[in-house]
Amino acid sequence: MAQLLDGKKLATTMQAKMKVEVQKIKENDGTAPGLVVILVGEDAASKIYVRNKETAAGKMGIYSKVDRRAADITEKELLALIETYNQDPRFHGILVQLPLPAHIDEEKVIMAIDPKKDVDGFHPLNIGRLFAGDPLMVPCTPYGIMKLLAAYDISVAGKNAVVIGRSNIVGKPMAHLLLQENATVTITHSKTKNLPEIARQADILVAAVGVGHLVDESYVKKGAVVVDVGMNRDANNKLIGDVDFAAVEPIADFITPVPGGVGPMTITMLLYQTIKAYNMQKSGV
Ligand code: NAD
Repeated sequence: MAQLLDGKKLATTMQAKMKVEVQKIKENDGTAPGLVVILVGEDAASKIYVRNKETAAGKMGIYSKVDRRAADITEKELLALIETYNQDPRFHGILVQLPLPAHIDEEKVIMAIDPKKDVDGFHPLNIGRLFAGDPLMVPCTPYGIMKLLAAYDISVAGKNAVVIGRSNIVGKPMAHLLLQENATVTITHSKTKNLPEIARQADILVAAVGVGHLVDESYVKKGAVVVDVGMNRDANNKLIGDVDFAAVEPIADFITPVPGGVGPMTITMLLYQTIKAYNMQKSGV
């Protein structure tokens, strides 16, 4: 039976520590780390994500603002709005909730965020620094997974790691973070042949696919560490991961549940990076 990698528990512990840190900042500096989240349009899932971020930031004493804009905002207006937050010293982190309406170029929007305030870690400069092995702001989901592995004393160096999925927000940065910790990393995707066979080589298997229960027992080596990033809905609208937990749990040594695994760590790392951004900006980095 596998041990659970309990992201909810670790997130609670980390958030409690961060709350104390924010309190100290307030006492010493008379100000708080600030995060602005820009939400464009009425996407239902985005609204929930943004509300969760706002609640978590508030609980921690982070100064947060949600700037809600109508779906018909022009690209030019959105870029100008970002620039005002780049210049606004109350906000140390800026997050633009994705996806954006089709008439707005997401790449341009991400490029417009000051890399020092890019708490999502999506700016090409931050991606470049991660790939160069000198990360500054790191995409929150893979960063949270690295924290989770470390919290359970799972060593990465020398291990075979297989990442399923090559998105810019999860799969690719995940692979680079594992590489940075000296894993031997294989990135797989929808065109990969013999995926179960490759996945079975993994000591550490990360599934970031978006296909419910894709990863069953045929993908997993005995004793593997299995991390499930997926957030999918089944026919009954129940939240399920990319991993078939019931089939894989008896084989793995460690496994993340869905919910309560990777998800809570993502939001925690967003706030973690907001505090980091505050400290960097204060010290002029
Ligand atoms: P994406 O759609 O951008 O990328 C999915 C990747 O999976 C692609 O690289 C694709 O090549 C690969 N893929 C698709 N079908 C495949 C198949 N049958 N076999 C092998 N590879 C396949 O998705 P994403 O943004 O990386 O998100 C992946 C999943 O993680 C989604 O379920 C998403 O909701 C979830 N997610 C969760 C969190 C969290 O905080 N828990 C954060 C981000 C994303």
